Amino acid sequence: MAEARTRSWFESVPKVELHVHLEGAIPLGALFELVKKYGGDPQTPNMQALVGRFRYRDFATFIDTWAWKNQFLREYDDFTHIAEAFARGLARQNIRYAEASFSPADFARFKLEPARLAEAIRAGLKRVSGVDVRLIVDLVRDSTPDDAMATLQQAYDARELDIVGVGLGGSEQSCPAAPFAPVFTEARRMGFHTTAHAGEAAGADSIWSALNDLKVERIGHGTRAIDDEALLRTLEERKIPLEVCPTSNLRTALVPSIEEHPLRQFIARGLTVTINTDDPSMFGCTLAGELAMLETRLGLSRQQTRALILSGIAASFMTDKEKHHRVLEFTTDPAWTANL
Ligand SMILES: [Zn+2]
Repeated sequence: MAEARTRSWFESVPKVELHVHLEGAIPLGALFELVKKYGGDPQTPNMQALVGRFRYRDFATFIDTWAWKNQFLREYDDFTHIAEAFARGLARQNIRYAEASFSPADFARFKLEPARLAEAIRAGLKRVSGVDVRLIVDLVRDSTPDDAMATLQQAYDARELDIVGVGLGGSEQSCPAAPFAPVFTEARRMGFHTTAHAGEAAGADSIWSALNDLKVERIGHGTRAIDDEALLRTLEERKIPLEVCPTSNLRTALVPSIEEHPLRQFIARGLTVTINTDDPSMFGCTLAGELAMLETRLGLSRQQTRALILSGIAASFMTDKEKHHRVLEFTTDPAWTANL
């Protein structure tokens, strides 16, 4: 009860999240259980050490930590375990709908197959009520287009597990998107929605490529769009939603401070912006915390925050009917207009 009384507006308002990686959103307690399951790690003997590991200076250190963590995800059961913990975390934060991505290519070395991974994840998600989580399969730029096509085929076979789309994460700075164009064409033909990380670890050209080569519906991050006036105009005219992840960009040193994040300019120009956490456990952030920070540090009004939440519904891969119901559900929730 004490906790309920002190919940801020940002925590109690219903929310959606569109850019969150399951493997980057493992609650640290659940991850530590997996570390112990696989014999422990001498450098990480306790939770305090685990928290310390998740502090990084730049993108390279972040990627190293990402890979370190993945070695403790070896069996299908591990994915059921983390999916359940993830969904419980969403429910606690009143995130009612999420599109979570997972990256099968990172686990091929443990002989884990994409379709069975999706099954294991769905089994964990099903244990939690009150939150609707749909899946996005990350085809991972670092793999070959042939491997990505094989993953896509498995995603199609497992589509009844609420796989709604495909994405393209991985090493944006060294793996261009263009070779994956045929994979994305096939994904669309199969009925999948599409998104791709772009303009995060590489510049505006990478966003152009995601739009022109992959023809994606949304851009993951899109931060570097700020460098290209023609691109900003195109994003605005075509109403391409950006999956903006403020703290993630700060922690990987993409922006020097939140005040210097181009988000405010994106909003002022009328771009479609959604707010997300990316890898909340790894960056120590929450969706409520992101929204609160935008008001306190960037001066967004409460009305603008509500608009960002609704923008998340509009940019989601739900059907139009589902979006309509969600908007009604959110805007009639007592927390929506609560004066907190
Ligand atoms: Zn991401």
